[in-house]
Amino acid sequence: MLRIDNLSAGYEAKEVLKEINLEFSKGFIYAILGPNGSGKSTLLRTIDRILKPKTGTVYLGDIDIRNLSTRDIAKRIAYLPQYSNSTPYISVFEAVLLGRKPYIAFEPSEKDLDVVEKIIKDFGLTDFAFRKINELSGGEVQKVLIARALTQEPEVLLLDEPVNHLDPKNQIEILQLLRKLTKKLNLITIIVLHDLNLAIGFADYFIFMKNGKIYHMGDSSIIEPTLLKNVYDINVKIIEVEGRKFVITLA
Ligand code: ADP
Ligand code: MG
Repeated sequence: MLRIDNLSAGYEAKEVLKEINLEFSKGFIYAILGPNGSGKSTLLRTIDRILKPKTGTVYLGDIDIRNLSTRDIAKRIAYLPQYSNSTPYISVFEAVLLGRKPYIAFEPSEKDLDVVEKIIKDFGLTDFAFRKINELSGGEVQKVLIARALTQEPEVLLLDEPVNHLDPKNQIEILQLLRKLTKKLNLITIIVLHDLNLAIGFADYFIFMKNGKIYHMGDSSIIEPTLLKNVYDINVKIIEVEGRKFVITLA
């Protein structure tokens, strides 16, 4: 379990997150939604301990993450930032292997190589394994970065707008794979998404942020026109097709 207790956090000149209380359970996918600047990325940075809380605490299990070593954090929490890239001149295999860094003392073990090989296969990257990163499309690089995060074998997976540069088929494939792995490996997956319909299609819970606070949280039953009006100031119609909600933006 991951628990955020009365958290406030931000940057030197600016307090961003206020009075955040959240609880995340293993085996579920949480979509973080909300307008630009509402604090989504800041929240992920605080969970990964890149930012220190001003007040409040992040607990992983029973442990205050302040008390974990840097190596422990790297093993237990994987974070893919909103803007990230990889060294251009290494191969896909090497780039994914970098995710094993917290486990490797001198050189990669049999297990490290096995984990990397398996994830490369899961992500359909086998044909690219020995291509250089700078010879891939933007979407393929993004797949490599997500694969790398998973080779850390984390308990908590934090992904900040991970499918923005992917085409629709790749978006769906990656999100389905993340869903499968979250259930199979019992991960806590927290993912910032902008596309409401994509989020509804694959997340278990929805956390709406506004002005640095949690505006509302729950399962897909909370996604209603009034909520979206209040959070985003948009007018929508919601329809149901085959038992699933779809948000249609009107203006
Ligand atoms: P979101 O991911 O929801 O778009 P962010 O968490 O990136 O929002 O940003 C929340 C607020 O914090 C914004 O007002 C943004 O300008 C500010 N902010 C983000 N990063 C920094 C930083 N490094 N230093 C100062 N302010 C920042
Ligand atoms: Mg952001």
